[in-house]
Amino acid sequence: MKSVKIKSPATIANLVCGFDVLGMALNDPQDVMQVTLSKEPGIRIQHNDIYNLPVIPEKNVAGVALLELIKELDNENGFDIVIEKHIKPGSGLGSSAASAAGVVVAANHLLGNIFSKEDLVRFAMAGEKLASGVKHADNISPCIYGGVTLIRSIFPLDIIPLPAPPMYVAVVHPQIEVKTSDAREILRKEVLLKDAIKQWGNIAGLVAGFMQNDYGLISRSLEDVIIEPVRSILIPGFDEVKKKCAAAGALGGGIAGSGPSIFMLCKEENVAKDVELIMKGIYDSIGLAYHSYVTTINNKGITIV
Ligand code: ADP
Repeated sequence: MKSVKIKSPATIANLVCGFDVLGMALNDPQDVMQVTLSKEPGIRIQHNDIYNLPVIPEKNVAGVALLELIKELDNENGFDIVIEKHIKPGSGLGSSAASAAGVVVAANHLLGNIFSKEDLVRFAMAGEKLASGVKHADNISPCIYGGVTLIRSIFPLDIIPLPAPPMYVAVVHPQIEVKTSDAREILRKEVLLKDAIKQWGNIAGLVAGFMQNDYGLISRSLEDVIIEPVRSILIPGFDEVKKKCAAAGALGGGIAGSGPSIFMLCKEENVAKDVELIMKGIYDSIGLAYHSYVTTINNKGITIV
């Protein structure tokens, strides 16, 4: 029986101004998954973690993504999946994407790499549909490709991996629940032209900043005038975190995906560590439990271990 063990990274979708179109992979935390090809048809899922996620394939994002891949096979192979989750579900750090993308990358490896990366994103998006109600690829793509990715279009898929200069990422995860589906529900369906102009200027600026290693341009472009003003009200302490971290020298940052985690990009490691201390201080004073850490951009994406 062929078997493979993979590590699948946390990801930050949106990157402030790029709602649904930009994402970045992180070196920490990473889920671990063991996937085994079996002669017995069907999918069997086991969780070796504390999160009590569903093990019925149709209710687990890994199962749903793999079912999409299996539809395109002309044999009766089955798969056994063991998931060890280190990315807390509902953190905004791409927990569902790590499972959905991880399983299809592992299955493809076991099948002799018959599918392209783009095919794998397509399969894994079915998992995101289960988790959040819509197909989106801004966590899935960086998880599979590594680094920073631009999803110019989902139908048809058009994924552009972007270079980015080295950066440190400080993350705080206040222990409150924000459901991705709820965080999407509260968004206004129309935007003002003046806001749209600001937003697409910032997205273009951020992409140019990444490509030209221009930290100043990255910093100026990390501004979201459309989504953040609405969503940030769901996260206690958000405005204070942003203001104090910017004053401490962070390039900028905001809500990770749909939250509640908040991330800050920093050029230097010592600044990222200071920023983490500021985040801790704010949640200590609010009296809200949190988890915080400093990591870096993951340029490899899912890896076989
Ligand atoms: P995140 O941004 O952390 O992925 P989401 O809210 O998008 O958070 O996804 C988590 C949701 O997906 C939870 O409701 C969880 O129960 C569901 N889910 C189903 N299977 C999995 C899985 N294998 N890994 C993570 N979440 C899963």
